[in-house]
Amino acid sequence: MSKKITGIGASEGIAIAKAYVLVEDHIKVSDTKVKDTKKELKLIDEALSKAKKDLSNLQKIALEKLGPEKAAIFEAHEQILEDPAMSEEWNKLVQEEFCNAAFAVKTVADKYSAMFLAMEDDYFKERAADVKDVTERLIRYILNMPVLDLATIAEEVIIVADDLTPSQTAQLNPKFVKGFATNIGGRTSHAAIMARSLEIPAVLGLKNITTTVKSGEMLAIDGQTGNLEIAPSDVKAWATKEEQFKKIKQELMSFKNKKTITKDGFDKFILEGNIGAPKDVEAVLSNGGEGIGLFRSEFLYMDNDHFPTEEEQFVAYKKVVEDMNGHVTIIRTLDIGGDKKLSYFKFPEEMNPFLGYRAIRFTLDRKDIFREQIRALLRASAFGPLGIMFPMIATIDEFKAAKQFTLDCKKELEKEGVKIGKDLQIGMMVEIPAAAVNAENFAKHADFFSVGTNDLVQYSMAADRMSENVTYLYQPYNPSILRLLKMTIDGAHKHGKWAGMCGEMAGEPQAIPLLMGLGLDAFSMSATSILRARSIISKLTLKETQELASKALDCETTDEVLKLVDALLAKSEK
Ligand code: PEP
Ligand code: MG
Repeated sequence: MSKKITGIGASEGIAIAKAYVLVEDHIKVSDTKVKDTKKELKLIDEALSKAKKDLSNLQKIALEKLGPEKAAIFEAHEQILEDPAMSEEWNKLVQEEFCNAAFAVKTVADKYSAMFLAMEDDYFKERAADVKDVTERLIRYILNMPVLDLATIAEEVIIVADDLTPSQTAQLNPKFVKGFATNIGGRTSHAAIMARSLEIPAVLGLKNITTTVKSGEMLAIDGQTGNLEIAPSDVKAWATKEEQFKKIKQELMSFKNKKTITKDGFDKFILEGNIGAPKDVEAVLSNGGEGIGLFRSEFLYMDNDHFPTEEEQFVAYKKVVEDMNGHVTIIRTLDIGGDKKLSYFKFPEEMNPFLGYRAIRFTLDRKDIFREQIRALLRASAFGPLGIMFPMIATIDEFKAAKQFTLDCKKELEKEGVKIGKDLQIGMMVEIPAAAVNAENFAKHADFFSVGTNDLVQYSMAADRMSENVTYLYQPYNPSILRLLKMTIDGAHKHGKWAGMCGEMAGEPQAIPLLMGLGLDAFSMSATSILRARSIISKLTLKETQELASKALDCETTDEVLKLVDALLAKSEK
């Protein structure tokens, strides 16, 4: 029986495929004693050979998709499984103490990860997570529980999950993963951002989709409207929708090599792409992007098993700057904390991690980690125009401290004879209301602003961007947000600086006319939104968007603002 559910449309496109339900069921290991020790040893042996096979498979896939460095992680995991000391210990527990296979492996794994965790050296500390990861796979095989590897999916599916972590999303192969549907998350959650950069349709915030749908059932999703249908009654209608979507996308391709220009000839707006990894540059360029307005450098850290070294970061940043071939690249320094965690670093427990120890607050406190990144960025600046951008700036003192630290690192490098780019810019995200209100003063110190509306809206409205329960409050078009945007843009311009936006709002069709009218200089968005933005800009005059913005600032509610915008957009289509 067909069933329709509506969630939040988070990444455009239509997908029709079988569901692949990803539920990380909890492993329960009992300590029951056994008589038949031979049987238990055999279970361990069989599990070991299955796990080793998986790992060499994963290694091959990672080598192809992610490069030799990531592949080496799986090689290290294989080595752990081959460690004679560990296997000797678990075999002994079975033979001499009559432990069951899973309990024996778990006991040894716990001992070794605790031992690694207690070590001083960060490298060894990190090995604790590896031991846990790899032995968990072994225990799952022993207990005959499903082992889910996203990277090995080899048929067309729609992934159904509670949420998807950035590293899980990075494993997905878009050739087979046609879409995803999750219980939690909204348009600005990281799963959504990744889905858009991978160009995979996604519907999020479906509350309990993991219990409503079963693996293997047919699903159809519309990533724009947020509609999902289980066992669709009219597959043909869905296929037609998919065709229409592809056709519109094709039509927009005609804007790829065109200038970004308004109907009345204003050609100063710049359309850029947001990326999470060097490989994403390709999509920005193939969608006609004129720069990178946001490189979320935290993915380099999250998709890793250690803090990336200066050299590792330099290689990544240099590649992006070079691939952008003279167009500007804005790289944001580590924005970690909140929902973005590291497997190899334990953040302090806080009641409100989104308001806590994160982003610039963390890096200013951990200058050792910050230094590696700043040096890597400065070195990359010699290869093309680069902007360094600090996240979550709340006070002038924070910005000045981060800027001074950057300048000190620059001096140090110059002393070492390292060349630094002459076009280097040092700017900041405006994503905390305090920074927007004080923009005019910040603009005396910063070279540029980039508004992070994903956070600015959540902090201004006190509405968690991840919560599907308060989405009604998540209102980028609320006149109060528009006023904060005006303060930010005017503040920058007063001191001859430029103001961009890299929050998701920058690529939304209804936001574009307002942002044009407010005088935003650079719009940075998911690669797939760039051509549509160029098409919208081409149909509007600067004058009518300025009139729209001025009226919108006087509105009382979001609905009033959106009515004005929709009327102008409808007129522009005639
Ligand atoms: C933002 O807050 O708008 C932003 C671009 O940063 P992130 O989504 O990574 O928090
Ligand atoms: Mg942010």
